[in-house]
Amino acid sequence: MQLKSYHIKITGIVQGVGFRPHVYRLAVEHSLKGWVLNASTGVYIQVEGNEANLKEFARRLVEEPPPLALIRTCEINEMEPVGFTEFIIRESEEEAAKTTMISPDIAICEDCKREVLDPRDRRFGYPFTNCTNCGPRFTIIKDVPYDRVQTTMAEFPMCSDCQQEYDDPRHRRFHAQPNACPVCGPGVTLVDAQGKKVDKSAVDLLREGHILAVKGLGAFHLACDATRTQTVKLLRDRKRRDVKPFAVMARDPECAARYAEISELEQRWLTSPQAPIVILKVKQPEILSATIIHPGLDTLGIMLPYTPLHYLLFDEGLDLLVMTSANISDEPLITDNQEALEKLGGIADYFLMHNREIYNPCDDSVMRVSSLGTPQLLRRARGFVPRGVPLPDKKTFSVLALGGEMKNTFCLTREGEAYLSQHWGDLNHYRNYRNYLEGIERFKKMLDVNPQVIAHDLHPDYQTTRLAREMSDMPRIAVQHHYAHLAAVMAENGLKEKVLGLVCDGTGWGSDGAVWGCEILQGDYHGFERLGHLQYLPYPGGDLNARKPYRMAMVYLLAALGESGVDAARQYLPNLSDEERQILMQSLSGKMGQGLQTSSCGRLFDAVAAFLGICQVNRYEGQAAAELEAQVDANCPGHYNYGVEWDREGQLIMNILPMWEELLTERCQGVPGEKMAARFHRTLTMMFADALLMAAKKTGGRQVALSGGVFHNQVLLYWLSTELKRRGFKVYHHQMVPPGDGGISLGQAVIASEVDL
Ligand code: ZN
Ligand code: ZN
Ligand code: FE
Repeated sequence: MQLKSYHIKITGIVQGVGFRPHVYRLAVEHSLKGWVLNASTGVYIQVEGNEANLKEFARRLVEEPPPLALIRTCEINEMEPVGFTEFIIRESEEEAAKTTMISPDIAICEDCKREVLDPRDRRFGYPFTNCTNCGPRFTIIKDVPYDRVQTTMAEFPMCSDCQQEYDDPRHRRFHAQPNACPVCGPGVTLVDAQGKKVDKSAVDLLREGHILAVKGLGAFHLACDATRTQTVKLLRDRKRRDVKPFAVMARDPECAARYAEISELEQRWLTSPQAPIVILKVKQPEILSATIIHPGLDTLGIMLPYTPLHYLLFDEGLDLLVMTSANISDEPLITDNQEALEKLGGIADYFLMHNREIYNPCDDSVMRVSSLGTPQLLRRARGFVPRGVPLPDKKTFSVLALGGEMKNTFCLTREGEAYLSQHWGDLNHYRNYRNYLEGIERFKKMLDVNPQVIAHDLHPDYQTTRLAREMSDMPRIAVQHHYAHLAAVMAENGLKEKVLGLVCDGTGWGSDGAVWGCEILQGDYHGFERLGHLQYLPYPGGDLNARKPYRMAMVYLLAALGESGVDAARQYLPNLSDEERQILMQSLSGKMGQGLQTSSCGRLFDAVAAFLGICQVNRYEGQAAAELEAQVDANCPGHYNYGVEWDREGQLIMNILPMWEELLTERCQGVPGEKMAARFHRTLTMMFADALLMAAKKTGGRQVALSGGVFHNQVLLYWLSTELKRRGFKVYHHQMVPPGDGGISLGQAVIASEVDL
């Protein structure tokens, strides 16, 4: 036999994902000798054997990586054979290099699941079972290198059985840092609201209709049987969460399919290692009490059990659990046992807790398969953080981008990758802000970087802007909000050349001091130009309007129809008191064009939803827009009037005011809301498409990127993309980075990465 030798270098996500044992098994299977080595620059392999085996090994190496690995490059060179006698996993100094990427937390794998459900296995029913292919990572890591002593598993020394698995390169648990079993690992306790141990099973309590606080991977959840209307109602009352939809956890995919329509792609995401909450169309007729679980919406967020602990919450009698984050409204996630007992005593009847500390709090991720058939992450957290997003250019310096204010994330860059944090909630809450600051320090440590540039939003009053000002020792770059949105969607799509952007969201501070929110931009990472926007309207009361859609309806009616608009407001806006109407009219009288102004698209959705009687008050962010979208009867043709024209300053003005006369007429005629909602969505589609075409004629470009929270709207996303493609545009949109403000830190980071230091 002729001995041949390959030297192989692999880059990508190949560390902390069981890559070396995988290589080891593969080599042994093909009777190859040599070694595998982990280095900060990638995984190196040298193998010797006969040519057929080598070729097969190389093929399988690339085509069948372990579940969590992601191979970016594979370089193979033939070498002189050395004559190895065995295959070994070589230890290296470099292995401890801090540049190793930390994996996100990963849902339990099939092998571990089998063990947990097998009465003969030593891990039968053990809630903390994991291996190199699955289990906690990010939420338990305190410092790098990723080693058990640097995690919250440090206080659980492995028993000899676990140690043996850990040391055996052929074993699935070789170097699995959180490896544990009932003998040596963490355990659960079930207590009542007074903290007294109870001798019952969690399943029984759930089946009896109790509410449980459950400590999971990244935080506490509140859980109850979703099919028990009274219990879910009680949970709403106690949590003081009146209409915001609850996410649910289904026992298995078959159960989920009983309640929702699930496409093949959606199924793949549900059962993926990231195991996010997937927003799904609810089945009609519905078995669940829609008015209680997801009022006003035709979608439901479903996830599958992702830790062994979750499997212990289900049995044959339980199909579906409400599984909602246990935090009180806008406060931070709850991760600590004592805090849970104190804060949730009035909400949960029982507490299923464990003694493994959650170091990095992390919410469930929320995604959907969009109307275009692509994934769309709405909240990027568990399963995705802290995975890097590749940047268009590799820079030597690190940027810290602070993000926005609500639903905020920050972003740190390191060597051509951007690391987005989990979401932190409203930073005006002191404790959210404190956690956010701590999160930044932890990311710096985890990535071993010291940022040299700070990027932040242009808004002068954001907490993050103040924070940036305090960091006076570094160059600081203020990035306009919608420009950051544009850069985020560009970066995600690997774009570098100038493109057109349509950014539609609630609010962002504009370069001219107005509140922007529906913007046509053109730009690259070096700069942008505003080409057009939704016509400005007065914005009396500022942020107050985001809570009260009926106010914006009043503003639109008055602006579009004058006196008869006021009559219409009186008739169709029940929440608008005489007093508030007077105040609004006063502040608007003769002032169209003065005072605070807005081009917000979110507020336009609010206004229409309120006027159609769909939603008067937003009790969670985006409620009116979501309910308006849910009303759309897509088969209903037609659109309303609108105008698009260049103004004297060379701005493209999208004028939606002509629509209101028709809206009023149809409302008077009693045209069903589904039809009007559809026509409104089509009006926006046509108006945006016309405006973008006019902008494109001026600039010559035919690439357009869509961003902003409004593009959570699946009807608009689909109709507009289709219309733009029909008109010859190449359309880019978000997939793995949120279209909303959770994505702007990425945009800020990539813009700041382009500065010359
Ligand atoms: Zn596993
Ligand atoms: Zn053990
Ligand atoms: Fe925004």
